[in-house]
Amino acid sequence: MTLRELSLAKQHELRVEVLPDKKLTVGLRRGDAEIFGAQIGLGEKVTIHGQKIAIFTYGGCLLELDGDAEVMYTSEETPMEAYINVHNVFENQRTKAQSNGGQGPRVMVVGPTDSGKSTLCRILINYALRLGWSPTFVDLDIGQGSIAPPGTIAATPVQLPVTVEDGYPLDVPLVFYFGHTTPVQNANLYKFQVERMATLLDRRANRHPTVAASGMLVNTMGWVEGLGYELILHAIKALKVDNVLVVGQERLHSQLESDLRQARNPRIQVLRLPKSGGVVTRSPETRRADRASRVRDYFYGVPRTLMPHSETIQSTELNIYRVGGGRQAQSSIRPAGTASLMNPLKITPVRVGNEISNCLLGVSHARTAEEILSVSVAGFIFIQRVDVRDDGEGTVTYLAPGPGSLPGRYLLLGSIEILNFT
Ligand code: ATP
Repeated sequence: MTLRELSLAKQHELRVEVLPDKKLTVGLRRGDAEIFGAQIGLGEKVTIHGQKIAIFTYGGCLLELDGDAEVMYTSEETPMEAYINVHNVFENQRTKAQSNGGQGPRVMVVGPTDSGKSTLCRILINYALRLGWSPTFVDLDIGQGSIAPPGTIAATPVQLPVTVEDGYPLDVPLVFYFGHTTPVQNANLYKFQVERMATLLDRRANRHPTVAASGMLVNTMGWVEGLGYELILHAIKALKVDNVLVVGQERLHSQLESDLRQARNPRIQVLRLPKSGGVVTRSPETRRADRASRVRDYFYGVPRTLMPHSETIQSTELNIYRVGGGRQAQSSIRPAGTASLMNPLKITPVRVGNEISNCLLGVSHARTAEEILSVSVAGFIFIQRVDVRDDGEGTVTYLAPGPGSLPGRYLLLGSIEILNFT
């Protein structure tokens, strides 16, 4: 496609899908335009590649497009009116909280996979930012993290717009390494880490009135049945959520409403919002590929401007631990009806061997092995090569985001293994 102009009528959006090896530049010539709540300035150019996005206009606009898009179409059926309405509700709650030194809205977005939860969080965060707030984004989706690599639960204060080019600004993220992409592996650990995160976020909100008044936006996993549902209820309680937004599914909405009512929690508002017709469904293969690219983004940056560093050290220099029984703790391999005898929160040292090849390890902030469970991680390393003998001695080569010593002594292993992510 060559350079061309496209005019978008008011309250319409242009849905675009650009392949990873292609790019599309979008410029705004006239009117107003935004991508998931982040405004495009007049004359500004935004480059999209490997993404599926929508450019929405409130009052109509003239766009300039240059590059290749796999899919491109205009739609007038968008849920933006409903989204702006809930934003206005939250705006009132923030203003009220600011005037009485209280807590702003703690909003959790729930819904099945591919319902547009992450996108809704992004839109609402960007709208809050545009009015001068600094909301905290909490990502409990261990399958596809937006703040940190997969397998993490994380939170970050957001002060700058979340754009398609830069994603979430990550100045001071608080990251817990759960280590798995599904909570089934260790639901107790998941709950423990959510509670820990909640305590730390409460502490932060208590110290900073603006952070408290700005509130939080919590993104969740797409697993909304059985254990997935139980974990949603647990997180609502732990994070003291007062507004739950259900995207799409009516059944989930009424189930949550009735369960929260029974739990005598009238303080919690449960609202149902329409799912956007633009949300793109991802196959399990695409999800796997997305996970690998999130790990690649962590080490190489987006765009690829970071210079990760490969380091070879003696295996004995590594202090690797796992929480619970790791892979052995999976309920699927236990005889039906038997409970695991393993303590899901027990910390066990891991002997260095070939099985840690291609694994992502969290570098814990812990000062002692006992602390590993309750503290966050400073970053991650990726094990590229293991050359050890049967006695466990030899060398290990790992990739770190930069040169120099690691920001912590203790490493946390889960079950996240990525092949060929570079
Ligand atoms: P998950 O199942 O991983 O939790 P989700 O419910 O959070 O997914 P999103 O990640 O928000 O869903 O959306 C899925 C994909 O659809 C993303 O690539 C997103 O950029 C894209 N998308 C969302 N809304 C639109 C839209 N209006 N037009 C085009 N693409 C969109």
